[in-house]
Amino acid sequence: PGQNTASATGKSSIPGVKRIIAVASGKGGVGKSTVAANLAVALSKTGARVGLCDCDLYGPSVAIMFGTTERPMANEQEEIIPIEAHGLQLMSMGFLLEDRSPVIVRGPMATRYTQQFLRQVAWDHLDYLILDLPPGTGDIQLTIVQTVAVDGAVIVTTPQEVALADARKAVSMFAKVNVPILGLVENMAWFDCDHGQRYFLFGEGGGVREAQKLNVPLLGQIPINPETGKRGDQGAPVALLPPSEHPVSAAFHQIAAS
Ligand code: ADP
Repeated sequence: PGQNTASATGKSSIPGVKRIIAVASGKGGVGKSTVAANLAVALSKTGARVGLCDCDLYGPSVAIMFGTTERPMANEQEEIIPIEAHGLQLMSMGFLLEDRSPVIVRGPMATRYTQQFLRQVAWDHLDYLILDLPPGTGDIQLTIVQTVAVDGAVIVTTPQEVALADARKAVSMFAKVNVPILGLVENMAWFDCDHGQRYFLFGEGGGVREAQKLNVPLLGQIPINPETGKRGDQGAPVALLPPSEHPVSAAFHQIAAS
C-alpha cells in the first residue's frame, strides 16, 4: 500500500497512516462496530500495523469491545497517544469520557469536535486505519469523509429491506465524495442452530442481490452468532480466535485477506 496523500479535493491525510478505510452503515444496530473491530483484528493478524478509531460521539463502543478502561495520555505535541490492545492501536471518543455517558454535543460543534479529534491522534506507523463511522449518512459522516482522505469504504448491512435501503444511501454518499466502495458486508445473514438447521431470520439473499444491484463486491456474510456478540461485550472480538476454531472468525479473516 502506498502512502495516503493529501488530494486536490482538500482532504488531508492523517500523519502516521498509510491507508484509511471507513466502515459505514446506513442505520444503527446492524453490527457496524462489530464488523469494524473484527476486521481490524483480522487485518492485524495478516501482519499489518492496524489502528481502529471509533468516531461515534454519541455511542462509542471500541473501549468496551476491546475491554480497555485505560485513559490515553498526550505527548509533547499535545496529540493523544492511542491505547494498545490485542496488538492494535485504538482511539475512541469513549476513552476521553469521564463516565462513559453519551456526549451531548450538537450539529456544528459535533462536527468540529470530530474533525479535531481525527487530527490529533499520534498514530504510530499504521498500514491501515479503520474508521468506525457513526451510523447513518448525515452531516458528521459526510464531514469526516470530506475531511480525511479515505481510501475505501466498507458498508455494513443486514439482509432486511430497511437496512438495504439505507445502505444504498451510504453508497451514494461515498460516490458523492469520490471514495471507492470496497464492498458490502452482510451481517446477521442467517442463524445456524445447534441442530444443524439454518434460519434466514431477516430474509435470504438480500446482501447478494443488493451488491449486484449496486455493482459492488459482496465482501462476506456474517451469521448471527451469540459468541460473536458475547465476545464483543467481553472485550475480546471473535476474530482473535484462530480461524480454524470459529466460523465467524474465519469469515472475518477471509474478508481481511481480500
Ligand atoms: P452498530 O455499530 O451497527 O450499531 P453493533 O456492532 O454495536 O452495531 O452491534 C449491535 C449489537 O448486535 C451488539 O450488541 C453486537 O454485539 C450485536 N451483534 C452484531 N453483530 C452480531 C452477530 N453477527 N452475531 C451476534 N450478535 C451481533
